[in-house]
Amino acid sequence: MVEGQAPFATILGCSDSRVPPELVFDQGLGDLFTIRSAGQVLDGSVLGSLTYAVEHLHTPLIVVMGHQTCGAVDAAVEAHRTGQLPHGHIGGLVGEILGVVESTPDDGTDFLDDCVRANAEHIAQRLRDDSELGGFVSEGKLEIVSARYGLEDSKVSWL
Ligand SMILES: [Zn+2]
Repeated sequence: MVEGQAPFATILGCSDSRVPPELVFDQGLGDLFTIRSAGQVLDGSVLGSLTYAVEHLHTPLIVVMGHQTCGAVDAAVEAHRTGQLPHGHIGGLVGEILGVVESTPDDGTDFLDDCVRANAEHIAQRLRDDSELGGFVSEGKLEIVSARYGLEDSKVSWL
């Protein structure tokens, strides 16, 4: 373990205290390379960390994992409804999710959950479209999938 790490998957999850990937997937030290940001929002650091995991640690799988009742996505739903973004850094984060919320149809059932799924799928697609990560996908060295974790039933559903 001291000599290096060989995690078998990379998880991009939410910072929410209820969704630590190691516990969700029942994995131990050295198993998962994890990156977490509220709402799994991408920025340069997140992309750099993901690319490091693929390029240097050769993890063949990235899982973008959203979760039920995500506060970051909920804040974007709220901003969509009120037309007002929160101030400062939080507004910047919420603004990153707003586009997905705006393009998700509201069928009157569980709009927040629809947005949670759409956000995870959207981020996974952005990673597939990324010039560096997308290259590993087309070479067959990497698969990028999205998932939704249910807080109620503790189950991961693949999207
Ligand atoms: Zn969340």
